[in-house]
Amino acid sequence: MAILVVGGAGYIGSHAARALRRSGYEVILYDNLSTGHRRLAQGFELVDGDMADEPKLRSVLTRVDAVMHFAAHAYVGESVENPRKYFRNNVEAALTLLNATLDAGIRRFVFSSTCAVYGVPTQIPITEENPRQPVNPYGTSKLFCEYALEAYDRAYGLRSARLRYFNAAGADESGEIGELHDPETHLIPLALAATGPGELQIFGTDYPTPDGTCIRDYIHVSDLAEAHVRALQHLEKGGDSVALNLGTGGGHSVLEVIHAAEAATGRAVRRKVGPRRPGDPPVLVADARRAQQVLGWKATRTLADIVSGAWQWMQRVQSGS
Ligand code: UDP
Repeated sequence: MAILVVGGAGYIGSHAARALRRSGYEVILYDNLSTGHRRLAQGFELVDGDMADEPKLRSVLTRVDAVMHFAAHAYVGESVENPRKYFRNNVEAALTLLNATLDAGIRRFVFSSTCAVYGVPTQIPITEENPRQPVNPYGTSKLFCEYALEAYDRAYGLRSARLRYFNAAGADESGEIGELHDPETHLIPLALAATGPGELQIFGTDYPTPDGTCIRDYIHVSDLAEAHVRALQHLEKGGDSVALNLGTGGGHSVLEVIHAAEAATGRAVRRKVGPRRPGDPPVLVADARRAQQVLGWKATRTLADIVSGAWQWMQRVQSGS
């Protein structure tokens, strides 16, 4: 069984590729390397191509049985400033991929969605039934793909898993791959960097949470990757299309993350308190029960695992090894 991992040289795609291979799948990566890295694709066949390149896609799709799609722009702030870029890639090019997949006769598709499709949640923890009302173009672009997949299921029998990630973080236990974003905007790598020359700005300490800082559901990227394999297996067994939250079901505040970074590194995180970041809801935590019921999957790694893995990876990158 061969799987095309589109965006396979990126952070989550490269972890999914390894999880697939560990489960015995043949894996081909497809990536235009705009934000992906050859380093993360090492040891895999990599087709250097854009999602909008239909002929290239068509030729590689003849060699696979299912598609996993990770190739999206994923900065919320940038999507507000430059929605055209987001709709061009995350919607238009994604539709090219979807149509080419369909034309190739493939009927299994695993899609990287996001809790950003919910916008401001109506209740915590967030279930999959929460209304989908994204509040930025990034979330809108992902929601479009969810709608397209739902329509293609009804019309053409394309079965999909739409996996709504909460806050992915951490690094593969092998030490070979991890997060390489430029610019880095995510809390965990920034908190770790602030144990060195950097300084972390805490975006608000006046939220209605126990310590005043925002709470998020941080999920280890390897747990996420394993959920993708389970989702694919669910579709292979003839399971229906599904939309699933991928989170731990528990939340941690910004201050708790800082303390975890200090515990993992043995160093102080240099920080200052800044204003709230526009658009940040106080609490985003998944109700992760449906993924457990449907896939038999549950996140097993803790915040300490996430932070220590991210720290090891960061040291490796900094030392040039
Ligand atoms: N955050 C922060 N300082 C930073 C980056 C993030 O205080 O430099 C906070 C942010 O307000 C949010 C949490 O950390 O509450 C996680 O943010 P991140 O950007 O990692 O992920 P997001 O939840 O936006 O997807």
